[in-house]
Amino acid sequence: MERTFAIIKPDAVERKMAGKILDRIEAAGFTIVGMKKIKLSTAQAEGFYYVHNQRPFFKDLCAFMSRSPVITLVLEKENAIAAWRELMGATNPANAAEGTIRKEFAVNIEENSTHGSDAPETAAFEIAYFFSQLELV
Ligand code: GDP
Repeated sequence: MERTFAIIKPDAVERKMAGKILDRIEAAGFTIVGMKKIKLSTAQAEGFYYVHNQRPFFKDLCAFMSRSPVITLVLEKENAIAAWRELMGATNPANAAEGTIRKEFAVNIEENSTHGSDAPETAAFEIAYFFSQLELV
């Protein structure tokens, strides 16, 4: 069993699509072992996305991620990291495969509805950024 970290991003929460996305997650066989709705500050978004701080879209991305609440999740499944990234689809919804969450829900390359860890080390950092051990059940 592996754990990964996911976010339902502001664009999807604002459009009341969180329930549909959670349904997709559970239908794909993930167990939700942690979940909370929070409103990130700009500084908290910057800390989360620090690896992107040299990218041209960093400021816009952090403004987007802190403009309204998000739902943070820890998901468990065999090969959860790769499985969740496959279910999300490509970063840019224009390139996302049919049947993926980003194809169905994303607005554009930035407002792309969901986040997923890309490797075991990032999953460990991202889970610990938002959840304590006691909150994972
Ligand atoms: P991910 O792993 O698929 O989420 O993609 P990345 O790690 O490359 O980028 C992190 C997040 O930054 C993406 O999910 C998007 O919200 C945003 N992003 C990525 N590329 C771009 C871009 O070219 N322009 C803008 N505005 N945002 C981007």
